[in-house]
Amino acid sequence: MRLVILPGDGIGPEISSATVEILQLLNETLSLDLACDTHEIGLARLGREGTTFPMEVLEACRSADGILLGPVSHATYPSRAEGGVNPSGELRIQLDLYANIRPSRSRQGLPHWGRTPMDLVIVRENTEGFYSDRNMFWGSGEFMPTPDVALSIRKVTSGSSYRIAKAAFELARTRRRKVTAVHKANVVKVSDGLFLRETRKVALEYPDVSYDEQLVDSMAAHLVRNADRFDVVVTTNMFGDILSDEASELSGSLGLAGSINAGDTHCMAQAQHGSAPDIAGQDRANPTSLILSAAMLLDWLAHKHGQDAYARGGRLIVESVDVLLKDPATRTPDVGGRLGTKAFTTALIQEIRRLGDAWKPSRS
Ligand code: NAD
Repeated sequence: MRLVILPGDGIGPEISSATVEILQLLNETLSLDLACDTHEIGLARLGREGTTFPMEVLEACRSADGILLGPVSHATYPSRAEGGVNPSGELRIQLDLYANIRPSRSRQGLPHWGRTPMDLVIVRENTEGFYSDRNMFWGSGEFMPTPDVALSIRKVTSGSSYRIAKAAFELARTRRRKVTAVHKANVVKVSDGLFLRETRKVALEYPDVSYDEQLVDSMAAHLVRNADRFDVVVTTNMFGDILSDEASELSGSLGLAGSINAGDTHCMAQAQHGSAPDIAGQDRANPTSLILSAAMLLDWLAHKHGQDAYARGGRLIVESVDVLLKDPATRTPDVGGRLGTKAFTTALIQEIRRLGDAWKPSRS
């Protein structure tokens, strides 16, 4: 199985290298037969070659079995004409990674900031919505007719709404069988009306899954007040981006939130957070988000290829992270601990080894 690793900018190289260490450990202990191929992207590549995301890297991703993308500092990239291509948006469009799956789960022994514990997954549409870089075949979805007027186009299609709803209901069948659609159809009546029309159509196909709807503004409050009432939440691109950061911070920290971007043929693991330039290069970043994203990728590969060992690798990561987070002595600073990125990774390696040994069948 070939994985492409794209370390990215800011804290990206630190947390990517921590994640690759964990993957290598699982590769050895579970004989996964994984090969990792690293490509530089982002600001370092821009300085050297005039582009943040060369075409050859896109092609390497297209032919790989999975991708691990570190966070990128795309807010500081120059325009596309000057080489500033956002690798995250580009990969989502080019490989049709339409479903951004973003779980948020509070953990026993770790403080959560919402009023109730939570265990929910935000399923965010990834290929259209209010993202001007993915709304047009050619050109940008933002315009400036005069220096004082700016317009931005939000695209919603029936096909993309239907397939993201389908992904949400399929996921709900593996969980507590509840889907909530989040929207603002009281104001953006036409576009969110279309999103809801398709989601309701899918809901009828899943009579075993309960379905309700929530306006996005009150959803922001409900996440703080009673997030325990949600299981799978399906929504359009920008609402999903914002609500998932809120949910993961409320569950304990943005640094704990794994995610994948999945399509029908490709999958990319990517932390929910950004490149955190304020702490880059200081050994202070929490690598958990990217490591849990890698666990989700292993699980996706396990289902796609019928490889149980990959699913076992994913579970080993998730349970070992939970063990470390229970104890303040094995946490990073963003969750009230003192371990640096490297020390946390070493502790995680030890825990994965310990748990892996405990899971082996006894020989007696
Ligand atoms: P951010 O997520 O990078 O940081 C927000 C806050 O959370 C910061 O205080 C940061 O230090 C902290 N933080 C984030 N990840 C952390 C981690 N793993 N461990 C500990 N603390 C962590 O958001 P931002 O500051 O708004 O954006 C910075 C850059 O990231 C921008 O260029 C933005 O465009 C980019 N960005 C990239 C992605 C992506 O690559 N997927 C997503 C969001 C933002």
